Amino acid sequence: MGKRDMPKYRLGIDLGGTKMHAVVINRKGKVLGSARRATKPEDGYKAVLRRLVDTADEAAEDAELDLDDFDAIGLGMPGPIDDRRGMVHLAPNLGWRERSVADDLKRVIKRPVVLGNDVNFGCLGEVTHGCANGSASAFAAFVGTGLGGGVVLNGRLENGLHGFAGEIGHVPAPFGDAACACGLKGCLETSASKTGIIRLILEEQRRGTKSLIRLKKGDRLKSSQLREAWKRRCPATRAAVARSCRALGWGLGAVAGVIDPEVFVLGGGVMEAMGDELLPLVRDGMTEFSMCYRERKPDLRLAALGDDAVAIGAAVASAAEE
Ligand SMILES: [Zn+2]
Repeated sequence: MGKRDMPKYRLGIDLGGTKMHAVVINRKGKVLGSARRATKPEDGYKAVLRRLVDTADEAAEDAELDLDDFDAIGLGMPGPIDDRRGMVHLAPNLGWRERSVADDLKRVIKRPVVLGNDVNFGCLGEVTHGCANGSASAFAAFVGTGLGGGVVLNGRLENGLHGFAGEIGHVPAPFGDAACACGLKGCLETSASKTGIIRLILEEQRRGTKSLIRLKKGDRLKSSQLREAWKRRCPATRAAVARSCRALGWGLGAVAGVIDPEVFVLGGGVMEAMGDELLPLVRDGMTEFSMCYRERKPDLRLAALGDDAVAIGAAVASAAEE
């Protein structure tokens, strides 16, 4: 497809368990309009589809456009996605199982819908219009409550046969055998995520490492609180975060051994809050564990699109439809 034939405007939606967020971008990735709404999955599947239409409509209007101006709509959402059939297998936060989301939304929004995994679309957004703009290949790791990842190779998003490409959070890692939310034990996510950091802080406290925050099992921790404890040089927090970053460095080193991408993108709530501090620790982990990066410096970059990454990536993906 030549540049002349490419649509001038694109619309993408990021659908999460609590909120949805739509953006309209131009070819350069500039956000021309946006809209947000609560998801309210408890209202049922059809009500959420209806709200997606309203949110897309509002974003289009915000950009002084109409839904008819878009050849297709991109939709990113959590869960393993069958991108060929436009189906989600399981999205626990939404209570959806085996839903033909692309077809069902197409019926009400009257545009073709390109469905994809939110983390994958976030990766595509960063590679196309964010921090890794211009790279042919990249791996993005998103460190939030869990650990997600996405792969772009030769400028194309890799979904994998079962939608599991880039799922770095649930590879078995050599850092203990803590129970993971997925049902397995010792997944990388049990160390390299906020859930993992909390687990490691608790472990440090049990070991007698001095701690300025008193965490109990089951406690939550905001990324801003984590940054605060880090800045106050809380010994347990520092030790736990260092172990977490070392584990992530191991994971990215393993990725280098499989696909050797040009750029590694670090995003997600934890990285947004304190990425500058953590990036060198992750790099050290890669140096320690990766043959490729033992004597080279990896190109590690912090995600640049923040909250918009998934919606922008979804908008980019929608252009693949024509
Ligand atoms: Zn797991």
